[in-house]
Amino acid sequence: MIKYALICEADHEFESWFPDSASYDKQVKRGLVACPLCDSVKVSKAIMAPNVARKDQDRAIAADNDDVPTPTPAAAASAPQVQDIALLDEQQQQLRGMIRELHEKIVANTDDVGENFPEEARKMHDGETPARSIRGKASFEEARELLEDGIPVLPIPDLPEERN
Ligand SMILES: [Zn+2]
Repeated sequence: MIKYALICEADHEFESWFPDSASYDKQVKRGLVACPLCDSVKVSKAIMAPNVARKDQDRAIAADNDDVPTPTPAAAASAPQVQDIALLDEQQQQLRGMIRELHEKIVANTDDVGENFPEEARKMHDGETPARSIRGKASFEEARELLEDGIPVLPIPDLPEERN
């Protein structure tokens, strides 16, 4: 669970819990997150500014410690916040595509030697068998030993989970 400080279009600040950041994105896009004060669904993450930047603000909240909502100057900042989220989404999708592509390339261009991987890798490294690209299974310990012996093995990236 993640707690986000949120702000609506009318500058009401409130907090809400989400299972993860992707759920936050989805729920906000679908208009499922509403401001508790005005029911607006145009909400975004409030800037978690360091104390220095919001000293006046902090003082104001501390001083009039009553039910009057303190107006906040975060409206200008809310637009770039939303853009940040959209960019991250796009990057993640690109990254997922790249990982899938890499995974497929590795699988297509390597011989699967299964459990024999550490042995086969060592044989090739020692020149006992001609060099080729192989994939297979190795324990963390076996992979570490290969790397320590200067054999450049690398983990095959896991396929990213498809959304929905
Ligand atoms: Zn509101």
